[in-house]
Amino acid sequence: MSRQQAIVVGGGVHGASVFYHLLSLGLERVLLVERKSLACAATGRSTGIIRHHYSHEVTVRVARYSSRVFSRFPETMGRDIGYVNNGLVFLATREEEGALRRCVEQQRRLGVDASLVDPAGLKTLHPDLVADDVSLASFERDAGYADPYSVTVGYAKAGEALGGKILLNAAVQDIRRKGDGFLVATASGEHEADAVVLAAGAWARTLGARMGVDIPVTSLRLSNAVLELPGGYARTTPTVLDLPNHLYFRPEGGHILVGDGEGLGDADPE
Ligand SMILES: Cc1cc2nc3c(=O)[nH]c(=O)nc-3n(C[C@H](O)[C@H](O)[C@H](O)COP(=O)(O)OP(=O)(O)OC[C@H]3O[C@@H](n4cnc5c(N)ncnc54)[C@H](O)[C@@H]3O)c2cc1C
Repeated sequence: MSRQQAIVVGGGVHGASVFYHLLSLGLERVLLVERKSLACAATGRSTGIIRHHYSHEVTVRVARYSSRVFSRFPETMGRDIGYVNNGLVFLATREEEGALRRCVEQQRRLGVDASLVDPAGLKTLHPDLVADDVSLASFERDAGYADPYSVTVGYAKAGEALGGKILLNAAVQDIRRKGDGFLVATASGEHEADAVVLAAGAWARTLGARMGVDIPVTSLRLSNAVLELPGGYARTTPTVLDLPNHLYFRPEGGHILVGDGEGLGDADPE
């Protein structure tokens, strides 16, 4: 294979997005290398919630940009990603009211359609919610959810259509400097490139260390489960972030997808 302009390591949503965007910016020889299959790690297990409730301004700006990308994905990328604009409520206890108010103020300043909601308003938004201990909540009209696997495959296929190549089942074993570029050794052969993009998620630290680069990524183990309700659960019911109880949930195909909002630190990515 001829020398690549860029090799992207990791076929999760970030790697696939970088792969596509480098090609759409005009690069002609880009190779995506994935040790197993596309979206096989965090991406394939993600709850896919798209929200803007973050405390850092930069994250809110990035989320706002991404939210528009996801809502227009079928028109711009030609693929249905199961995007649903269901809105999101964020529950706070009395001690967290100040932080919630600041977060909503920041979102509004940055153009997000977010507002504070009292317990009566919460009942209107989500009649089934038992939230007696909640004194204040917020509602984000622009929040939604989508299927992370479809987003990843959408970017990967669009990148291939622009001439990019994808190598699956090819774990990168080593990345070394060679001349003014890099030599990337995989289980199925070696490849040269002008630049390497490391998008290996929880494995980035190990791979970075082999290149002499310290990437301060730590892993967190998160769990989720799909629960069936006898009466079903409408797909447009707002997502609920109940962080005081370390829980969040959203509709999933007529059922409820419940996630653990806390996780276990220092987990082994395997
Ligand atoms: C349970 C859960 C729920 C989540 N919910 C949400 C949510 O609701 N909203 C949200 O925005 N985010 C959510 N996230 C976070 C989100 O999933 C991640 O931020 C995102 O998927 C990370 O994508 P990535 O491409 O960086 O990493 P990954 O998807 O982990 O991709 C990294 C890829 O690198 C590959 N790789 C590793 N080592 C090598 C190697 N040596 N050679 C080649 N390839 C290699 C791996 O196989 C993997 O495919 C959730 C995550 C989890 C686990």
